[in-house]
Amino acid sequence: MADYAAVPPPPPRPPDSRDRALERLGEQAWDVLVVGGGITGAGIALDAASRGLRVALVERDDLASGTSSKSSSLVHGGLRYLEQYGFGLMRESAVERERLRRLAPHLVRPLKFTIPWSGRRRTRLIGIGLWLYDGIAGFQGPSRHRRLETHEVVAHLPGLARHLDGHGYEYSDCRTDDARLVLAVVRAAERFGATVLTRAEVTEVRRAGDRVVGAAVRDRLSGREVVAAARWTVSATGVWADSLRGMAGAGAPMLQPSKGVHLVFPASALRVETAGVVPSQTDDGRSVFLIPWDDQVVVGTTDHAYDGSLDAPGLDAADVAYLCDAVNAAFGTTLTAADAVGAYAGLRPLLSDEGDKAVGTDQLSRRHTLLGEPPGLLTVTGGKLTTYRAMAREAVDLIAEDLGGSRGRLRSRTDRVSLGLSGSLDAAVARAEILCGRLGLDPAIARHVVCRHGDEAPELLEVAAEYGEDAPLVPGLPYLAVEARWAVEREHALSVADVLQRRMRVSTRDASAGLSAAPRVAALLAAAHGWGAAQSEAGIREHAERIAAERGPVPLPGAPASSVL
Ligand code: FAD
Repeated sequence: MADYAAVPPPPPRPPDSRDRALERLGEQAWDVLVVGGGITGAGIALDAASRGLRVALVERDDLASGTSSKSSSLVHGGLRYLEQYGFGLMRESAVERERLRRLAPHLVRPLKFTIPWSGRRRTRLIGIGLWLYDGIAGFQGPSRHRRLETHEVVAHLPGLARHLDGHGYEYSDCRTDDARLVLAVVRAAERFGATVLTRAEVTEVRRAGDRVVGAAVRDRLSGREVVAAARWTVSATGVWADSLRGMAGAGAPMLQPSKGVHLVFPASALRVETAGVVPSQTDDGRSVFLIPWDDQVVVGTTDHAYDGSLDAPGLDAADVAYLCDAVNAAFGTTLTAADAVGAYAGLRPLLSDEGDKAVGTDQLSRRHTLLGEPPGLLTVTGGKLTTYRAMAREAVDLIAEDLGGSRGRLRSRTDRVSLGLSGSLDAAVARAEILCGRLGLDPAIARHVVCRHGDEAPELLEVAAEYGEDAPLVPGLPYLAVEARWAVEREHALSVADVLQRRMRVSTRDASAGLSAAPRVAALLAAAHGWGAAQSEAGIREHAERIAAERGPVPLPGAPASSVL
């Protein structure tokens, strides 16, 4: 069997490649036009392109600019689906988790969780649940769960104020960086020949009789419009799926979005050595995760029905209170919005239970749905980050079967396509450390660079040495100055937010959202795309305004005065 992990990374993209991609979009007859550049669209583009189909992907904003950069970034079996007897979903998620650890060892890393629950009966139930959790995964997870004694619970979560019966449990799942996972999948699709265009919005779905035969795509940078002809158009538009179905004249809305928010605190305010799970302080029976991230902790998430703007969800005081109350009750802290260094809000594309908003969104299905009507349009939505690959395989199986002939016999091979690191993580880090030594760079940056850039790490280190850009982009965060250049030149970044919010997570993790680095990023973009001073300034201002609006009650020091909305 061929080893697709050996496929080399693409060559650097020449500056005019975006114009060429737009022309190609209108010229070629595509087998599959994917609309949406989140994890779902990325996965479908990779699955289809690696089967040899002609694939184009259009995204109206940036890759992962929707829900796929707003998740908890867990690649997990979904422990809480136990309560809903969601054994099938858990099994599929656990299998996909293990597959992703193999395909992207640099991006999908094991993470230990500690559950310090109170009450003997509850603790016993959790123990039974964790046996099931490990068992459903075929005992193949990163490590098996175990019961913890009091001193171990305290060692794992040193800040913990109360755990009533003194015991707890440890179990394992995995963590990733959701936006970088999307990028890795998209770039793998490009290696197989997919054409990818961001800032390209589908404004109209084209039909010939009953059948959808492609879409009109507007380039949001130049205003140009092209018609992309496709045998199958796939809507991977997440919470916007009802809008695309509306363009195609398809039936009733099928989604009930739910909002989920996260707060980011400095580890000095919330001491955790492992990830933790604590109960919410409402009667919704949910738990709140605390996820360590270098010297910060991400706390999330809320989950409730949302009917505001799909384009700009933000935090409100109730969201902040929900998370802070859970943490403060468990840790005896007095955290408020003012203690957070960052915050973000995302929308889950949950399938509506016949539109019944009385149903708690926690109870709505995390399963995905595939809807093949009208003919020629396949809507793929719902689901989770973790199971994107299985979801994509299912979607492209349907398309391949419809295309028939030799194409219909093509099988998915994404279970063997590397997502950017061939070989072991430790070996790649060791090689990068040696290279750092040779280039006069600090070997301590090697692991960070490999974990984010995989096989491209050596080339990135060479560029860092060439430009002297091996220092942090923003003090206190591990991202390097060279990564901004790399994002602009290699990773489809077209705005300040693309660089600071998604290629790196600076805007989420820096109290000032990385605004100190924004002029530098704007200068790189200006050089690459011929921006003038006014356009650079507008780009920075727009980014600051969006972050301020999303953070809501969480302060954004250093924002331009007019950014207060
Ligand atoms: P999106 O990422 O939203 O992508 C849709 C894209 O379509 C957008 O980029 C949008 O710009 C584009 N688009 C829309 N309309 C058009 C158009 N007309 N033309 C062109 N492009 C268009 N899952 C996990 O497995 N683990 C987790 O830890 C986890 N945590 C979560 C926490 C929260 C708070 C939330 C909200 C979700 C979480 N999920 C998690 C679920 C997971 O994040 C989502 O299922 C997944 O990101 C959805 O991806 P998507 O590609 O379907 O949608």
